[in-house]
Amino acid sequence: MNDLIIIGAGPAGLYAAYLAGLRQLKTIVLEALPLVGGQLSVFYPDKPIYDIPGFASIEAQSFVDQLLHQCARFQSQIPMLTHTRVVSIQEIEGGYEVVTSTQRFPTRYVLFTTGAGSLSPRPLPQLPTHPRVHYTVQSIDDYANQRLLVLGGGDTALDWATQLQSKTHHLTLSHRRDEFRGLDSTLNALASDVTVRIPYIIQQVSPQEDKLLVTFEHTQTKEVICDTYDHLFVAYGFEADTAQWKDLHVDRIQQKLAVSTTMETSLNGVYGAGHAVMYPGKTNTIATAFGEVNTAVDAITHRLRPGKAIPFSSFLPIK
Ligand SMILES: Cc1cc2nc3c(=O)[nH]c(=O)nc-3n(C[C@H](O)[C@H](O)[C@H](O)COP(=O)(O)OP(=O)(O)OC[C@H]3O[C@@H](n4cnc5c(N)ncnc54)[C@H](O)[C@@H]3O)c2cc1C
Repeated sequence: MNDLIIIGAGPAGLYAAYLAGLRQLKTIVLEALPLVGGQLSVFYPDKPIYDIPGFASIEAQSFVDQLLHQCARFQSQIPMLTHTRVVSIQEIEGGYEVVTSTQRFPTRYVLFTTGAGSLSPRPLPQLPTHPRVHYTVQSIDDYANQRLLVLGGGDTALDWATQLQSKTHHLTLSHRRDEFRGLDSTLNALASDVTVRIPYIIQQVSPQEDKLLVTFEHTQTKEVICDTYDHLFVAYGFEADTAQWKDLHVDRIQQKLAVSTTMETSLNGVYGAGHAVMYPGKTNTIATAFGEVNTAVDAITHRLRPGKAIPFSSFLPIK
């Protein structure tokens, strides 16, 4: 029987894997996607992050690479299985069985680091799939000097615009409301040559040879503008498939797992950390997730080895 199954290999799950390695817990990490890194690798790999302790600035994917590098020490002890979506957990004697469509993993403890659930971007209704319509910004160098349109009004749209503006002078940012929801600091970082088109809705998007013809309509004056772009970046937010745990009888707050101060859910031996959990005062940052993971893994370690102190890492035989 495993000591611990970690469900989800975003930053919380990766750091949990590392700590489980330090604590010598028999652990497996299960990740639904083909890649690890969670939201950082899927949604904003090139975005700089400024609020991780020890890094004045680090690109999201580089940070994930650092987490993987840190985990590498334990890669033979702690398997990390991608393409492995957990569909349920079932109580068994002495623990749980974590169930995927093809396998069952018996374990004494479970840690949910599943983020907001299976995430998928809200599609552009007018043209949901097209090679020039993107829901993530990867490899920004590919878009140098191209005509780009970013759609959306939140942090993601503003983040993408501020990244892409360094590659082109033909960037438009459009939103259906007359103000953005993103951080003022990001808004202030927008270059003066970015065309900001608010409040406009998108009427139509039609492929035209190797471009996309976009028709905008002003929400109040009804003025119509047409423009062509090489690429569209759609940041309409994400739909989280919270239905995936609907059969799990566990206490929730705002659809997330409610946890105690040791990060245990209302199910004995089932813990949660990171974006998957909620409690009063919770902040959804990577730094917070790491603290929660530390609390959860140490609580599990104490239950596995009652009465034994957990040494600081500097006292461990680490090379
Ligand atoms: C655009 C954007 C910018 C951001 N910028 C910052 C920032 O600058 N600083 C900051 O601190 N935070 C930032 N965040 C928030 C940060 O990304 C999250 O707080 C962080 O990703 C949470 O980590 P997590 O590991 O809990 O969850 P996630 O990153 O969501 O990872 C969860 C993982 O679990 C997997 N999973 C889900 N369900 C299953 C299942 N059933 N079976 C197996 N695997 C499953 C998912 O595929 C995913 O890989 C940003 C978020 C966004 C969207």
